[in-house]
Amino acid sequence: MNGSSIRDQFPLLHQMMGDYPLCYLDTAATSQKPLAVIQAMDDYYRRHNANVHRGSYQLAAAATRGFEAVREKIQRFINAEKQQEIIFTHGTTEALNLLAHGLASQIRAGDRILVDSTAHHANLVPWQQLAKSTGATLIPIPLRSTLRLDRQALTTLLQQPTKLVALSHVSNVLGTVNDIRALSQQIHTAGAICVVDGAQAIGHLPVDIQQLGCDFYAFSGHKMYGPTGIGVLWGRFALLDTLTPLLTGGEMIKTVSFDHTEFGELPFRLEAGTPPIAEVIGLGAAVDFLCSLDREAAQRQEQQLLQQLQQELAQLPGVKLYGAHPDNSGAVAFNLADEHHQDIGMLLDQQGIAIRCGHHCAMPLMQLMGVKGCCRVSLGIYSNAADIKCFIQGLRTAINLLTEV
Ligand code: PMP
Repeated sequence: MNGSSIRDQFPLLHQMMGDYPLCYLDTAATSQKPLAVIQAMDDYYRRHNANVHRGSYQLAAAATRGFEAVREKIQRFINAEKQQEIIFTHGTTEALNLLAHGLASQIRAGDRILVDSTAHHANLVPWQQLAKSTGATLIPIPLRSTLRLDRQALTTLLQQPTKLVALSHVSNVLGTVNDIRALSQQIHTAGAICVVDGAQAIGHLPVDIQQLGCDFYAFSGHKMYGPTGIGVLWGRFALLDTLTPLLTGGEMIKTVSFDHTEFGELPFRLEAGTPPIAEVIGLGAAVDFLCSLDREAAQRQEQQLLQQLQQELAQLPGVKLYGAHPDNSGAVAFNLADEHHQDIGMLLDQQGIAIRCGHHCAMPLMQLMGVKGCCRVSLGIYSNAADIKCFIQGLRTAINLLTEV
């Protein structure tokens, strides 16, 4: 599939925003969905809808097979060792909450938890709350002036006993990429658990969790061309098996009496209640869609666009880029001197251009950057040179309007 035929797969992209064609540059918030995903969910509800894992009739058995086939697809997609290591959640946020809650009984007062300073709130607040409830200490890993993780500072921090390190694979604000393979080796050498938030990586980079070497990896379906309401927590079986379930109830048990419950096996032990079945089916279709593409070529093209975007932005008067680097992935963050980021977003929106402005659920990072918020332009598999041209022209218009007053 070439660039334009990929774009043809995304019906939403072909519409007008008032007088302007939509220019969608907010894939980091959520990706658009290809027809294959929309149709798979539609087909599920039209022809296959039944609850999974319980019905004794053919329709339910087929729904269960379809549902479990996606677990296997995800296992292959991220190269997990076992299917039981794939836990379906509602998204990255739930995956990380499930994990923090699940580990609580293993955390003692005085334990140290290190967290990436670029972390999305979803990979910070659960650890912070866990630290508060257990008496553990949460320590942010410093960033260098380039806004990249300070490896030397991490080395120093890891000289003291550390329980867990929570990292972003790709920053949702800056697009900076952490070298998870090297970092997880270092973290393991120090005897700590390595948790990775892969929400912004999964749709852009090849993710092979055995190669990355971390212990837990979380992501959301809607950032990889799948539906909202579905995500995955992957964990090493032996560690996953020690987690206390966040939710208890149906589906996750072996036996129940009035005074005792014996929990079931993985993965069901961590998936209480009716799962988001249609969303799982949609996620499976998104994996098939991604696997049908020449992903290396798509990644190369996206990288070229990102670099072009960084270069063109850097040349505009008054633009300040944050953490920009040619090796970043998917996103560019910037501000315009003396202008509020929301004003820029509004002036771009009036031209049909959708970008994200605000703190991007990374308030501590904003504090380190010395700003309240910023603008973020982010790319997807369907982004093209025309999007970049449209955005740069739109930003020039916005700059002219703002500097005229
Ligand atoms: N982590 C990162 C890096 C993200 O970008 C996001 C979504 N913006 C999340 C976590 C949370 O994902 P979700 O809202 O799908 O749970």
